[in-house]
Amino acid sequence: MKVEFDEDTCIGMFQCVAEWDAFKKDKSAGKAILEDSDEVEDEIFVREVPDDAELDAKFAARSCPVDAITIYDDDGEQLIP
Ligand code: SF4
Repeated sequence: MKVEFDEDTCIGMFQCVAEWDAFKKDKSAGKAILEDSDEVEDEIFVREVPDDAELDAKFAARSCPVDAITIYDDDGEQLIP
């Protein structure tokens, strides 16, 4: 499973931070940070989701009010949102 974080879309509500500890607050930028991710495009960050964090990652994606977090399965199929 993979997670993609769109920093440009993020409005810094930080619900995701409460759901999965891979998301941290960058208060000065008013944005979340996705730890251990690679910037694959401008302001698009991607990383693998560890097996034991899949539920947390899904909750984080569902909690985002602006759909800045997208979850893909191992076949690249979009699961959330
Ligand atoms: S919940 Fe969404 S808008 Fe809020 S900090 Fe996380 S990614 Fe950004």
